[in-house]
Amino acid sequence: MSDNKDELEKEELKDVNSNETSKDNKEDDYEKICYVCRRPESKAGKMIDMPGGICVCTDCLQKSFNNFQNVGMNVNISEEELKNLLNMPGVHMMNPEDFIRNVPHKQKIKKKKADGEKTEPVIDINKIPAPHIIKEKLDDYVIGQEYAKKVMSVAVYNHYKRVATNTMDEIEIEKSNMLMIGPTGCGKTYLVKTLAKLLDVPLAITDATSLTEAGYIGDDIESVISKLLAAADNDVEKAETGIVFIDEIDKIAKKDTSRSRDVSGESVQQGMLKLLEGSEVEVPVGATSKNAMVPLATINTKNILFICGGAFPGLEDIIKERLNKQAAIGFMSDLSDKYDNDKNIIKNVTGDDLRKFGMIPEFLGRLPIVFTLDGLTEEMLVKILTDPKNAIIKQYQKLLELDEVKLEFTEDALKTIAGKAIEKKTGARALRAIIEEFMLDIMYEIPKDDHIGTVKITKEYINGTGGPIIGMRGQNCI
Ligand code: ADP
Repeated sequence: MSDNKDELEKEELKDVNSNETSKDNKEDDYEKICYVCRRPESKAGKMIDMPGGICVCTDCLQKSFNNFQNVGMNVNISEEELKNLLNMPGVHMMNPEDFIRNVPHKQKIKKKKADGEKTEPVIDINKIPAPHIIKEKLDDYVIGQEYAKKVMSVAVYNHYKRVATNTMDEIEIEKSNMLMIGPTGCGKTYLVKTLAKLLDVPLAITDATSLTEAGYIGDDIESVISKLLAAADNDVEKAETGIVFIDEIDKIAKKDTSRSRDVSGESVQQGMLKLLEGSEVEVPVGATSKNAMVPLATINTKNILFICGGAFPGLEDIIKERLNKQAAIGFMSDLSDKYDNDKNIIKNVTGDDLRKFGMIPEFLGRLPIVFTLDGLTEEMLVKILTDPKNAIIKQYQKLLELDEVKLEFTEDALKTIAGKAIEKKTGARALRAIIEEFMLDIMYEIPKDDHIGTVKITKEYINGTGGPIIGMRGQNCI
């Protein structure tokens, strides 16, 4: 009996120990941070552990010691002597109370692996799927946008090939930064999100409207890299091969202001140049702005893929004007309003048009791949409702299936929903709002009655002129 008890106690002890070691291992993955200057171990050098789980770098310790001594000259003492001094009774160099606030985990940087340690490459060339496979996978989620999917698959494939091999035969392969132009809600963000998920790389999405030149109210341009670092779980190496998506890029077009400084337009474009091209930036860890209390990490943006997206309202008029002018000149002159009703005019976009819109040439030069996305048609919207792997209707069907109720939509009903979404002019984003509105009653009423077996949503129900067709269990729905 007592033997048993002893064994149980031993087991418990083992459990506790293993828990502790796993926690230690986890902690070991992160660098220590100096509590005074907030620099990580890789920058500040060896850290000295102090009581209360605090670490201080030798520089800061030396400085505090100098101050404490109140002597002007530099007293050089060894690390061991410093430690002994700190433990002397009556010596009180720093108040541990000041440090009670521990550095939060999100502000710690993951350690780089030691040189000798065998590491898996962050991107393995053999694991990068070929462009046609990337496109096939995108097809599962994104409806239409065939051209955009093709361009992106090839660009991403080339980009990661370049990252995995670094250079090829000394020919430096250029970065495949992209600029996507398309109306709101047509799937720009969705494409990038799906792509990052497929490739299993960290992704940071940011809105260009919140960016301002450093020093002004708003987010610094470099804050996008901070977000990427957070998405990579503070692993610098992983973040350096991630994707940054900057939405609403058209909002940083040059503004026609001659009197005031354009801190959120042209200056942001200027500030972004070095990031797009590849440079080392110091970014705050776990925060969007630099201050004395956050540690900094150095990130090289050379292998980060930048994708910019925007709706560029007004760009169509610029293209139309150019094309109409061209058509009306010379022997082959045509009607001067030939392009006025062309719905796909945006496909004719050129660098000149974008420049006229307000993007600076240096900025455009760093986004070599420019492509457009189509506005969503009724047919595409119907497909978005039903086809993708996680289509909204599939989600509702799954929910009701758990109540053993079969949910169906008539073809007309789907078209009516799509028509309503087009009226809202927010692309596919409107679909969910419309569906949620009329599905509320269904989701509320159906579970009340155990006899219901099928629900068929009709056009009349969506238009508010009739109800859904309800079928009882064991009886086929009409
Ligand atoms: P934007 O082009 O403004 O970035 P989003 O990509 O955010 O638009 O689209 C909003 C939502 O609409 C997405 O989350 C997605 O569910 C849906 N969606 C948009 N376009 C498509 C598409 N082509 N195929 C499938 N779903 C889409």
